[in-house]
Order: sequence, then C-alpha cells, then structure tokens
Amino acid sequence: MIWNSATYPWPDGKRAAACFSVDVDAMAPYLWATRDGRPDTIATPEHRAYGMRRGLARMTDMMARLQLKGSFFVPAVVARDNPDLLPGLVERGHEIALHGDCHELVRDITDQQFTEALERSIDLFVRQVGQRPKGFRSPAWEMTPHMLAELRRLELWDSSLMGEDVPYTLNGITEIPVRWDIDDAIYFKFLGAGDKPPRSHLDIGAQWQSEAQSTLRHGGLFMMTVHDWISGRPARVDILEALWRPLVEDDAIWCATCGDIARHHQTLTDQPDHSLPRIPDDTTKGFSQ
Ligand SMILES: [Zn+2]
Repeated sequence: MIWNSATYPWPDGKRAAACFSVDVDAMAPYLWATRDGRPDTIATPEHRAYGMRRGLARMTDMMARLQLKGSFFVPAVVARDNPDLLPGLVERGHEIALHGDCHELVRDITDQQFTEALERSIDLFVRQVGQRPKGFRSPAWEMTPHMLAELRRLELWDSSLMGEDVPYTLNGITEIPVRWDIDDAIYFKFLGAGDKPPRSHLDIGAQWQSEAQSTLRHGGLFMMTVHDWISGRPARVDILEALWRPLVEDDAIWCATCGDIARHHQTLTDQPDHSLPRIPDDTTKGFSQ
C-alpha cells in the first residue's frame, strides 16, 4: 500500500482542474424505463422534451459567454432522434462522448447486450460526425468488469466511477472520476409524486461553490455533471454561470474537457494502474458494519 498525497501533475503549472460535463439524457431514460409498454400519459415525456427544446440551448449559450468547452455524453437514441445535435456540439467546439444506446441500465442488460449497444453507438457517432468517439460514461454510473474490459478493447476512456479525486488508471482504463454530489439530478430531478421536492438552487449553488473551492485547494478535479432537461431552467443556468465564471477566469485552474484530461493523464508514465478492489468471499464473519 502506497500512502501518497502528492499533488497530481496538472499540465502547464496549473494547480487544479475543472470539467463541465453534460449528460444529454433527454428522452432516453424514459424510453428505456417504458420499453415494455408506454403509459398513455404525457407529463414526463413533455418535461424531458424541455431539454432539447430549450434547456440545452440556454446552457450552451451560457458556456459560450464563458468561452467554456464542455463534454457532452449523448445516448445514441437521442442523437438519432435529433440529428443536428452531435454536429452542432462539435461545431461549437465541445466534446461528444458515449452514454449508452438507449440509456440502458447495467442491471437490466447482459454483457453481450452491453457490447452490442456500445458498438451500435460508436457506429452512429461515426455516421453523424465522421469521427470515432473516444470516451464513455455509463448510464446511472454503474459499471462491471466486462464493461471495463470492453472499453479497454475499444480504446475508450471512462468517466463513471469515483475511486479518486484526480484522473486515475483502473485495469488499464483511464478514468476521469465523477461525483454524485456535484450532479444536478440528485438535487433537482423531480417528476412528480414519489420524488423528493427539488432543493433550492441558491443552497445548492453555495454548496457547489464550497466544493469547488475545496477540490481546487487540494489540487483535485472539479467534475460537474448536469442534464439538459434539469439544469436548463433560467435560475439554474444563472447559478451555473456564477459558479463557473471565477473558475474559467482563474489562471491556476485548467478548465478542460474529459478528453483533454484523459489525453494528459495518458502522457504520465509514473501513475499507478489500480486493480479493482478485492471483495472477500466471506463477509459474514468479523464485520459489524
Ligand atoms: Zn444519463
């Protein structure tokens, strides 16, 4: 075991990094959840349609004002239904990356189905923008050893796991770590009865500001994840702009896409390649919690 709290070597003398990532889920999770039969109700699809109608444009306008390039993870079904989406993002200088075919959840599919969905998605990206995507983010941020092996086979980096607060290598895969607590969905996703009421954007904005300051003070990566249909609302975009303006204006912070960060990490030759944690077979003895 190596105990090492040394600062991660960010490029060009930067002290920390920040990445603005958008999971353009749009209608995909609804299509996946209702794949065996759609209810005759329209509130949820209408709510989700807000992202492609309005939310994403408001968000990318905000990013243009800040000259901030982001990483957009797009399920293939969303790209298929909105053929201008991927070309439009590329034209604006953003990065596009994989996020499942129909936002299929790992627990619902076999290894073979995962592989087929991944290859189908790559083909669609190539058809629509003429370039092969280089990165992947798992729907709902769950992964399996098979998925890691497939990403390695297809030479993709990943951004779905939380085992570090700087880029790291896991089973040969470059991992750009995420954080649930810097994801808008856990605070604001509200689709009616059964969901917790959305939190105050003022409170969450202040919390994210504190997270950003601490992460950057410790030399880490501030990886933010937002969704087209959740954070595209006016006050939430304003909170994001207020949060990100000082980050992009700070010369000590490297504001970069996941792909930029992955490429940088792959140039470092002294970083350990972590293996998956060993889970003891018999966890019933000797553990009280
Ligand atoms: Zn998603």
